[in-house]
Amino acid sequence: AGAARETTIRTTCPYCGVGCGVLATPDAHGGIAIKGDPDHPANRGRLCVKGAALGETLGTRGRLKAPTVHGQTATWDVALDLIAAQFTRTIAAHGPDSVALYVSGQLLTEDYYVANKLMKGFIGSANIDTNSRLCMASSVAGHRRAFGTDTVPGQYEDLEIADLVVLVGSNLAWCHPVLHQRLMAAKATQGTKIVVIDPRRTATCEGADLHLALAPGADAHLFNLLLCHIFDRGLLNRDFLPHVTGVEASLAAARHSKPGDTGIPPDDLAAFLALWAASERVVTVYSQGINQSDSGTDKVNAIINCHLATGRIGRPGMGPLSVTGQPNAMGGREVGGLANMLACHLELDNPIHRDAVQGFWASPRMPAKPGLKAVDMFRAVEQGQIKALWVMHTNPAVTMPDASRVAGAIAACDFVAVSDIWATTDTARLAHVLLPATGWGEKDGTVTNSERMISRQRAFIPAPGQARADWWQLAAVARRMGFPGFDWASPAQIFAEYSALSGVAGQLGSDFDISALQDIDYDHLAPVTWPQAARKGGRFFGDGQFHTPDRKARMLPVAACLPAALSPGHPFRLNTGRVRDHWHTMTRTGLVPRLQQHLGEPYLEINPDDAARLGLAPATLAEVTSPQGRAILRVLISDRVAPGHPFAPMHWTAETAPTGRIDTLVAAVTDPISGQPASKSTPVAIRPY
Ligand code: SF4
Repeated sequence: AGAARETTIRTTCPYCGVGCGVLATPDAHGGIAIKGDPDHPANRGRLCVKGAALGETLGTRGRLKAPTVHGQTATWDVALDLIAAQFTRTIAAHGPDSVALYVSGQLLTEDYYVANKLMKGFIGSANIDTNSRLCMASSVAGHRRAFGTDTVPGQYEDLEIADLVVLVGSNLAWCHPVLHQRLMAAKATQGTKIVVIDPRRTATCEGADLHLALAPGADAHLFNLLLCHIFDRGLLNRDFLPHVTGVEASLAAARHSKPGDTGIPPDDLAAFLALWAASERVVTVYSQGINQSDSGTDKVNAIINCHLATGRIGRPGMGPLSVTGQPNAMGGREVGGLANMLACHLELDNPIHRDAVQGFWASPRMPAKPGLKAVDMFRAVEQGQIKALWVMHTNPAVTMPDASRVAGAIAACDFVAVSDIWATTDTARLAHVLLPATGWGEKDGTVTNSERMISRQRAFIPAPGQARADWWQLAAVARRMGFPGFDWASPAQIFAEYSALSGVAGQLGSDFDISALQDIDYDHLAPVTWPQAARKGGRFFGDGQFHTPDRKARMLPVAACLPAALSPGHPFRLNTGRVRDHWHTMTRTGLVPRLQQHLGEPYLEINPDDAARLGLAPATLAEVTSPQGRAILRVLISDRVAPGHPFAPMHWTAETAPTGRIDTLVAAVTDPISGQPASKSTPVAIRPY
């Protein structure tokens, strides 16, 4: 047992933003035994079905093991030289904004740091964006509008302290299962009330006291009504209001929302308002149902408004909490991995911030304007404005809205490099240069989960073939482009530099200052929630101090709206999302037969009334069309979805189900502030196939 303990590696799950700690131990059969880490604060030993199956996703079969150039195996030198030369040539001919990096919440923070430094500090363009844009960009924008920074106020333990937990646009039971387990355990011991707000009756509703089946997209109306209720019942927190601006204007805007706008039965609506009013400790958890909307930022602010008006923020058991999809979406936000952000919560449009980062990096240039957000980035690729593109650990040819059009744009781009662990993704097939990357279990670095907890991902198996870490690839290209400052020998050195930069940010007033970690023993870094002991309980804003110039939070007037009306030609509104046992495009979970057994093929969940009207029988096929594309899906008839509002999961690709690719249907409509696509409300037509 002692020997086994010595070989056990502590790492972090690569899937969702819960960020569970994992123990990986070589077993007697040449495999790796996986267990939840009982000492990791996020999961305390728990794992969900996906995390528990991680050991079955390891192995080298089918992996990309060597670089390729135009489909032929090449040396690293040849591949890296070509990328550096293409980027250098393109920039010289067309300027720095003619190249772009599109990265991923699967990147570790150290990878993100190097990508951001290369693109913003040395290439001199902010054309670096991430698939996190599709996940939580509206939360980022909402936080920044309300708090002055992208700061998550609370922590997971608030769900265990709360009297009432409101889950809005979040199927927590399937998408953040261990956090859901923690919530259900709290409910069992102390009777926590749970309300689920979702047009669908999801698995999460089974553990709830109340399910509000609101009309799709009506979230801001609902929270506007709640704000009015707070005011009318005298629940404004007079002690906290001196720390808040915009109360009257927000209330005036909220008065335009009417109960009928929500589609919620009056008794259910009244029960929710009464429960919220009667519960001092309220946490509102929200996820893609809020973010993936053409008014997602307003929805986020409508939620935050209610917490600010009541002072229910930053204290134990209360506050808004955005739960992110990917393992390191938060790390990417902190490090400045989005096109409109600088590093360490500094602002790209603030010349003092730009100068500070440029000085720290000793870099030759720094963009003064935001880069292109994901949807606009691929439009620029399509229009030939971006002529050299490097995609890392993501598959935009199948996961972007209007995916077929995006695939066409990538295929026509002058130069495309892709770093991935597989050669067969829809995007990898379009690459001129393919670079073999290390995957989970092979790479080293840090991730930040949805409650600001930084944890280590650690390597415990060798990389296959010539696969190398993403930070190494980026630094190697940077050096070949002639840029200094990319000479790290390890992720520990990158983390130390990043931590030191955060100290500079802290001196400028940024909340993100982890400089105390720059001399830590990186190899033995235990999970740590920033800001480390700086604030009692690890929560922000309980003291009423925000990061705006006047230190006050801003309530935002929200003119609530509903999704655009449907047309006779496309009379259904398609909702999209995850299934319980799969992750993104199944590059990992698809390797595990038992995970395939739950819901193993693309399907359309449709209300019985709609199915009867359309002549769709259970388990037959339906053809779903939108102005963007077409998919053929298995029919699943269920009253969990409302008439007119079918649901389809997003996991399938050209490789796994060519006619089941949902994002070929989804329109590239975005929130005007965050740039996040509205992935849950595409007008479609349906007929038997
Ligand atoms: Fe991994 Fe998320 Fe499951 Fe935890 S809840 S084991 S982080 S997928």
